[in-house]
Amino acid sequence: MGDNTNLALYGGKPVRSSMLPYGHQCIGEDDIAAVVDVLRSDWLTSGPKVTEFEAAFSRYVGADYAVSFSSGTAALHGASFAAGFGVNDEVITTPMTFCATANSVLYQGAKPIFADVCNDTLNIDPADVARRITDHTKGLIAVDYAGHPVELDELLELAEARNLTLIEDACHALGAEYKGRRVGAISDMSVFSFHPVKHVTTGEGGMVTTDDEDFAKRLRVFRNHGIDRDAKERQAKGDWYYEMVALGYNYRLPDILCSLGLSQLKRLDLAVKRRREIAERYTSAFKKQPGVIPPSVRPDVKPSWHIYPIRLDLTRLTAGRREIFRALRAEGIGVNVHYVPVHLHPYYRKRFGYLPGQYPVAETAYEQLITLPLFSGMADKDVQNVIEAVAKVISHYAA
Ligand SMILES: *Cc1c(COP(=O)(O)O)cnc(C)c1O
Repeated sequence: MGDNTNLALYGGKPVRSSMLPYGHQCIGEDDIAAVVDVLRSDWLTSGPKVTEFEAAFSRYVGADYAVSFSSGTAALHGASFAAGFGVNDEVITTPMTFCATANSVLYQGAKPIFADVCNDTLNIDPADVARRITDHTKGLIAVDYAGHPVELDELLELAEARNLTLIEDACHALGAEYKGRRVGAISDMSVFSFHPVKHVTTGEGGMVTTDDEDFAKRLRVFRNHGIDRDAKERQAKGDWYYEMVALGYNYRLPDILCSLGLSQLKRLDLAVKRRREIAERYTSAFKKQPGVIPPSVRPDVKPSWHIYPIRLDLTRLTAGRREIFRALRAEGIGVNVHYVPVHLHPYYRKRFGYLPGQYPVAETAYEQLITLPLFSGMADKDVQNVIEAVAKVISHYAA
């Protein structure tokens, strides 16, 4: 091991004096003005901005329908409801995701079954999905990890052959392309999140897009208590009568937040372009750095880079992920890890008896993963700081 005094972790001078976060929202004066306008209007929720935001969003992804929700998690729950997942059903999903993906299946009383991931993209492996399909399987929920589209053609083929609903958790992938088509109009339903670290933010918020009118209807009913008409429709008709036809929730996204989303959508193309630019700069720097494996991109996709996860080649390093993570944080780089494989969380272990070793590709990757800062508001100097800090820390721990 080299000279310890150089690293900020051991008292050396950090690359940055302030912590660069791994993700951050980008809010402009136009966003602020759009929200203020709604605050002065008649509709704070369930009004015209909801319809406008949904229309603009469905147009962007190229889907016939978009239904907004109060969060990405609520949107996943809505999609699981619309797909008809219920007790005695199994839904195959990935362990390499945020726990909300699998939780949405549990909310519906169905059982998530994990399939392992591909070693290059860390997206669910269609071959392992095929092995885990049973007579109880009702659907698949795939995740476009890091914004790299999952193998949609192969999954759609599996889904069609067995009459399964394919839900795409595209919370990482707004603006990504799969074989020349934008994510959001390919799967039966696609789910997006508007959390501040995502491509477009409404603070909290989510969306489901689909080409299926029946799914769209079920999604709208579900996010409004299971009621078949919303307040705006009743007011327009001058009618009081409504019927609750299913057990739904209040998962509505208010006009205040939809106006923010609409305003944010205008900058989405620029935001995706900037994320791609930063990812390219990272990849060309890290390709030459022994000990670091940059994320790989398959030839037929254009990722939109929600996150930029590197993997450590631990055979070429004298320290593990924990130490390297701490060393990068000490340099002022707000690194993170995506994700603790879902089946290893205590709740899943206790409830389903999962043990380490059952999903070796996801688990091995987890031990190597570090997410570097990536957001559209990063300055070139910030990008340079990250590259410099990675080089400094990794070369220090070179075996
Ligand atoms: C962000 C995210 C969610 C949840 O979205 P929220 O809006 O935070 O509820 C679900 N799945 C994935 C893969 C995500 O990245």
